[in-house]
Amino acid sequence: MNRAIAPALIIHGGAGVRGPAEERPARQRAMLEAADRARSVLVSGGSALDAVCAATVTMEDSPLFNAGYGSALNSDGEVEMDASLMVLPFACDSNRLDGAGATTIGAGAVAGVRRIRNPILAARAVMTETPHVLIIGAAAERLASRCGLALCRPEELITDRARARWKTYMGRTPEHGTVGAVALDTNGQLAAATSTGGITGKMAGRVGDSAIVGAGTYADRIGAASATGFGEAIMKTTLCREVVRMLSRTAPSRAAAMGIKMLEVMAGGEAGIIVVDRRGRIGYAHNAQAMDIATFTPAEGLRHYHL
Ligand code: ASP
Repeated sequence: MNRAIAPALIIHGGAGVRGPAEERPARQRAMLEAADRARSVLVSGGSALDAVCAATVTMEDSPLFNAGYGSALNSDGEVEMDASLMVLPFACDSNRLDGAGATTIGAGAVAGVRRIRNPILAARAVMTETPHVLIIGAAAERLASRCGLALCRPEELITDRARARWKTYMGRTPEHGTVGAVALDTNGQLAAATSTGGITGKMAGRVGDSAIVGAGTYADRIGAASATGFGEAIMKTTLCREVVRMLSRTAPSRAAAMGIKMLEVMAGGEAGIIVVDRRGRIGYAHNAQAMDIATFTPAEGLRHYHL
């Protein structure tokens, strides 16, 4: 491990209504497993990008979270998923439309995808394999397939749990379970990733903050953040960018709390956010009933919190 920079990681499993108590131990195990996969990447000198993808894929594969397998269903009872990631510094020639050389900012996103098992890997493919940032629907699925990612029938992503929740929660408070991860690696790279099935009962075709760089996901030289909660409020306040910008003058825990307060005042609604700054300091805040997070730092090891 590079001694100059200590790695740091924080992941979330969504903010929203408090889930059933009997699911809590399994969710805690799943979050610790996701954080542990990212931890292994970071302590072996791997990149923050690989770490946030490892954690996000693990949660997308779990039926307990509203992302990938187990995604919330829209008003038509179908899965439509959004995901995005951002990384900095990042060297990639294909990320420039004008071909004028490499950029140091990487960003990729997909929206409204229905047949991709791991939407976060499709967002990564948008970043690395195209000059664009956001690709939607069938075109994103074709790109994922060309990049060798696993596709499936949309029904294969629907769990009994998601179907039951769709019947119960339609039109009510956002369900717990969007996933996100932010990390700092030993080389100083910062990355953020977010993946979701969106809000249960959302209008078909609705795209939320989790696909929008600056709103649900953001990283720059001073920090990285991932949000969860009521996507429309998060987009209207570009929550993640606002909070990362605050890091130039305040600590992550305070920036996270100020960001949630700002969202509440300006747009109303529930949200949660996780943040890491370039010094490896971690912050989080939410104003929902509950939010699950897990963290890793070399000093404190792996931890899980049910907030
Ligand atoms: N932010 C997500 C969306 O609005 C939902 C969530 O985080 O629960 O699509």
